[in-house]
This record gives sequence, C-alpha cells and structure tokens, in this order.
Amino acid sequence: MSELSFAELGLDPAVLEAVVSVGYETPSPIQAQAIPALLAGNHLLGVAQTGTGKTAAFALPLLSRIDPNLMEPQILVLAPTRELAIQVAEAFTTYASKFKHFHVLPIYGGQDFAPQIRGLKRGAQVIVGTPGRMLDHLRKGTLKLNNLRALVLDEADEMLRMGFIDDVEAILSKTPANCQRALFSATMPAQIKKVAQTYLKNATEVRIESETRTVERISQFVLPVYAERKLDALTRILEVEPFDAAIIFVRTKAETALLAEKLSARGHAVAPLSGDLNQRQREQTVDDLKRGKKDIIIATDVAARGLDVSRITHVINYDVPYDTEAYIHRVGRTGRAGRTGKAILLVTPRERSWLRTLERATNSPMEPYQLPSPAALQQMRVEQFESQLLGFADDPRAAKAIALLDDIAERNDMDITMVAGALACWMEASQPDSLPLDQPEALPEVSASAPRRDRKGPPPGKGNFRKGGPNKNFRNDSKPGARKGPPKGKPAGKGPKPGGSGPKRAPR
Ligand code: AMP
Repeated sequence: MSELSFAELGLDPAVLEAVVSVGYETPSPIQAQAIPALLAGNHLLGVAQTGTGKTAAFALPLLSRIDPNLMEPQILVLAPTRELAIQVAEAFTTYASKFKHFHVLPIYGGQDFAPQIRGLKRGAQVIVGTPGRMLDHLRKGTLKLNNLRALVLDEADEMLRMGFIDDVEAILSKTPANCQRALFSATMPAQIKKVAQTYLKNATEVRIESETRTVERISQFVLPVYAERKLDALTRILEVEPFDAAIIFVRTKAETALLAEKLSARGHAVAPLSGDLNQRQREQTVDDLKRGKKDIIIATDVAARGLDVSRITHVINYDVPYDTEAYIHRVGRTGRAGRTGKAILLVTPRERSWLRTLERATNSPMEPYQLPSPAALQQMRVEQFESQLLGFADDPRAAKAIALLDDIAERNDMDITMVAGALACWMEASQPDSLPLDQPEALPEVSASAPRRDRKGPPPGKGNFRKGGPNKNFRNDSKPGARKGPPKGKPAGKGPKPGGSGPKRAPR
C-alpha cells in the first residue's frame, strides 16, 4: 500500500469528500501513481487488471478536471462489455456524488437507441460505453465530442480480443487532438502498443509489478464465488475451518465494520480493525485477539500492516488485494513464529485473472477450496446441535428444569417430547439457524478457470456463471473439517440469486 493519503493527491475537494465518504483509506498503488499524472494532464498508459483500483485511478483525477456546470460529454470511457460499462458508470456516480449537477450515461449495444438519445440530449458530463454503440452515436451525430477533455480505454486487451479494435481506433481518430487519453490493459499485445504509440504519445507509464516471493508454510486456497454470495461462502468457511484465530481482509473501513457486525450477529467473537480506530483502540483490538477475547479480526491492509499475532491460523481474503505485494503481506499474517497457516482467497468471476498473477508472484499454485456439500454441512450441524444439547445434560439445574417442564406438560396435557420440541423452536426463534432443520442450499457454481472470450462472446444467459447444479466446491465426498468447541456461527443460507450471465459482447 502506498504511504500517500488521498488528501495529498490534489483531487478536487468534492471528489475527495466523496472518496472519504466511500471509506477508502489510502490510494492503491496504481492510484498513487496514476492520479498525479492524470491531474497534471498527461496521457497515461496503465498496465493493470481489475481489482487494482484502476477505475478510481482514472475516474477521480478526470472528474477533478471537468467543468461540473457544463452538461456536455467531457469524459468518454470505452469498455469491452455492457457489465463493465455499467460498473464504471456506477463508480463515476459514487465519486461525483458531492457534485451539485452530475450525469453519467452508460450506452451499450442491445439497448434501444431512443432512451440513449434522450439521455444524450438531456446532457451528461461522462459517457461510458461499448465501442460499437459509441461509434454508432458518433456517426448519427447524437454524440458530440466538441467539449471532450479525456478519453479512457478500459481493459483495452479485452476490447482487442472481442474484435472492437477497429471501432476503438475510429473513435480515437474522432476525438479532439488536445484531449487527454488514458489506456488501461492487463496485458500489452502488439496492437495495443501500436494504439498507445499513435494516440498516447509521451504517456506516463504505470505498471504494478512486484518480485516473486515464496510464501512458505502457508497453504493457499481459492474459492470462486459470486460477489453477492461472498458472505454465505465466508460464513460456511468459518463454520467448517478449524481455526484458532482468523484475519479477514476487506477493502474499506466501512466494510470492516459492516462485516464485523454481520459475523457478530452469527455468533462470532469478532472486531473490526481499520483507520477509523485511534491508536489505543487498535492496540486494544490486537490485544483482544492475542488473548483470545476475539477470534476474528476484519481488517483493511493499512490497519493490519505488520500485525504479528501467533494464534492467527487463517487469513481470508474476502476482497481481493490491490496487488501482489498486498497479497503477500496479507498471507504473511499467518504462519507466524514457525507455525503453519492457511490462506483462502474469495474471487468473483471478474477477478479470476488475478489468480495466475498471484500464483506467479508467490511461486506456488493455489488449490481450489472445497466447501462441504449441503448434505455434509447439514449432517455436521445436526451433530453439533446434538453435542451441544448433550453438553447440558449434566447441568446441575437440569433437575429443576425437568420438574418445571413435567409440571407444564401435565397441566397442559402434553407429552414431554412436545415440550422439548416447543423449547427447541423457541430457541430457534431467538437464535435463528440454531436448530438444523433445513438442509442449507448449495452456492451457485463459478468456474475456477479464467474465461476465454471469443469474438461473439458466450450465448446470452450462458456466460461463465452456472446456476444450480452440482458444485465442485460442494462435492458430496468432501468432508467438513473438524471444529473446535461449540459452533461459532451459522451461515445465512438464503440469499439473492446471482444475475445469471457472464460477460457478454454487447451487440451493436
Ligand atoms: P477496480 O480495480 O477499479 O475494479 O476496483 C476494485 C474495487 O476496489 C472496487 O470495488 C473499488 O470500490 C475498490 N477500491 C478502489 N480503490 C480503493 C481504495 N483506494 N480503497 C479501497 N477500495 C478501493
């Protein structure tokens, strides 16, 4: 992580205020390098993948340079897919949330022209879209670039792979000569280099690289999961992993508090650790973890810097790190004092390309993480329920309780098993999920390998996201790990179903 703060970067005060309210603690490495260059008006060539914080790396400085009162397209972002265009447009909305007047318009193929034309007529400072449709609007004259100040090519290598490169070049040639340009790409194939040489002369180059370092004594696992099912996956991991203490990494200060609250509600002894705490509170939190008053810490990279607690057996990367440096630091929080440790990384479909990078950086492969099947999980919960129940059988107060319940049963003409059933349901009502009556559902499967997108892209609805069906993360033969002591919590089990389809090439 960089030592710079967002306040030192020279962003527009309204943009800075928005960043603070989102809860970002410090700029990611690519942001620390790209923001000053873009603020200075330079072209920028960024070799970076999704997950590095590249969207904010261009959105924050470019927003700082627009005229917020001019309702004309001032920033144009080209993205390979409809999904990415929408995601980038949402990010702009967040970062411009403190502007008085701000409009961003996503435009992509497959949607009617009419609402897009209405949106363009109404006026928007930022347009984010797929190249084909953008070019259509330029040709129709419905999109005008007279006031364009900056053009961003996001995931340029993906646009090349999907056959958009001619459209991209056609758009580039229509942009004003003095327009600032930024190109982001995970890889630099020859054609992308050529585009950069032609249209981004003297660009500042930003590359996030790090040396290879082996992470000894730490076994690394990866669990592909849909973003909206991450909490379900995490609660199941915590349920089956025999951890002593765990540290869970997230990206924002807000998320540390939110996730700590959710896990606490599920019965875990958990605390957040972020820059929102003062020095004394942070020391107290670390001390609580050392002494076993807390078992789980939810931390940001900055707050966990240098954390050395030997009882941490597990590092869970709930959000992917910004770069390999951060990953290596994170996993190094376990395996302390010569012990072994386990690191589990949750990746969403869009973040899968990270895997190869991380494996290269740590010089070791990541194994697929196997969650137990729903049936195995259910069986485990039943056994835990039973052992907890039996744990109270010798309780000295049991005799009094039996007399009381016998009396209730007799006066209400009930069988004693009916009384026991009612008691268990009462317990379930006050501690949801404490009674394992229903088998948990399987999480939808996400394929572990990175998608290969051809020119046409996957057919609608097929994508790389597979709904239902057997999940190799939930194989019936996989056994849940042994747990220490009573259950630490219960998974949410039910949650929203994922959107369903993978990245699509937006039709014209
Ligand atoms: P990107 O690489 O642009 O797709 O960003 C990945 C994720 O990182 C997004 O969810 C952002 O909200 C988040 N993010 C970007 N910059 C920061 C930052 N400086 N601190 C915390 N989270 C960030």
